[in-house]
Amino acid sequence: MKQRKVVILGSTGSIGTSALKVAREHPERMQVVALAAHSSVDKLAEQAREFGVKHVCLYDERKLADLRAKLPADVTVYAGEEGLCELARLSGADMVLVSIIGTAGLKPTLAAIAEGKDLAIASKEILVMAGEVVMARAREKGIAVLPVDSEHNAIFQCLQGHRGGSEQVSRLILTASGGPFRTTPAEELKNVTLEQALKHPTWSMGQKITIDSATMFNKGLEMIEARWLFGITMDKIDVVVHPQSIVHSLVEYTDGSILAQLSASDMCFPIQYAVTWPERVQNTLPHLNLAQIASLRFEEPRWDDFPALRLARMAGRVGGTMPAMYNAANEVAVQAFVEGRLSFPGIWETVEKVLGQVSARDYHGELSIILEDDALARETARRLIP
Ligand code: MG
Repeated sequence: MKQRKVVILGSTGSIGTSALKVAREHPERMQVVALAAHSSVDKLAEQAREFGVKHVCLYDERKLADLRAKLPADVTVYAGEEGLCELARLSGADMVLVSIIGTAGLKPTLAAIAEGKDLAIASKEILVMAGEVVMARAREKGIAVLPVDSEHNAIFQCLQGHRGGSEQVSRLILTASGGPFRTTPAEELKNVTLEQALKHPTWSMGQKITIDSATMFNKGLEMIEARWLFGITMDKIDVVVHPQSIVHSLVEYTDGSILAQLSASDMCFPIQYAVTWPERVQNTLPHLNLAQIASLRFEEPRWDDFPALRLARMAGRVGGTMPAMYNAANEVAVQAFVEGRLSFPGIWETVEKVLGQVSARDYHGELSIILEDDALARETARRLIP
């Protein structure tokens, strides 16, 4: 039995708070050694005190003094992106949980790999933008990359014990809840309001990811994420709509057998598995009663009505910096939708236009090229949005 010493980057968000629940329930398996948050000073200070953490980072440097005042004197306070990298390299830590939204997690992730720390990755952007370099460096260093996204964690679980090669996997099947507009007629999508888009039927998450679930961009990002995480071609990545969010994803093998992972919809399941892997540990999370569930429903995604999926498949096939630009254009479009400057279908229309105007480059492990094209896609999106 191994106690993991874990750095949590993004501890005040929904994944971070679930991770702390896991740490609270399994102190013999998970010791929290460092915490980082974007700007929630009070919550971060409270977490640091509760877990006796001696290393704390705040991304927003303007609130540093405020944070210091709320912490015991023996706590070291770090700031900004460099602070995140320092936590990721912290001696004494053996795992870094990356659950920061957006591109800010990229450099700390590479810093953690360089120091030989195992990774638990909850931030999609990292693998979408730089999956090729992240996985290559992780392989070089011999570290584990453990997926925390519920779908990828499910696939990871379904691949455990498979002793054949990846050519014996015929499909990775990601389940999608379908979001709040699963059954909304296509012609009514233009009337969708922000408030409606923020109501997710089965998961409670941050604002950006909830809107991404409504547009299906979340699933598109997950398709690309899976491509790198499991080293599989885009053609073998499929999506099925499963509104109940009980089956978290599936793996189909060449002999026609499909393995699935099922559990209640609680992020503590994938987080706990990432921390205790390859072992399984008893917990107090709700267990499923299959007879009570009675039936599981699956549907074909509406590929034509939600173009995010098709665009993701294209971006993943093209590769290079195209997935980063898919992500960047979507971020700008979502922001514009939140601010009322873009309609709901305007989100995917903008991304489609951006991807039609830019051309992808091979980045050969160069982060700077990814970031340049990311900026180009953002600029192009801003120009296209009225
Ligand atoms: Mg997910």
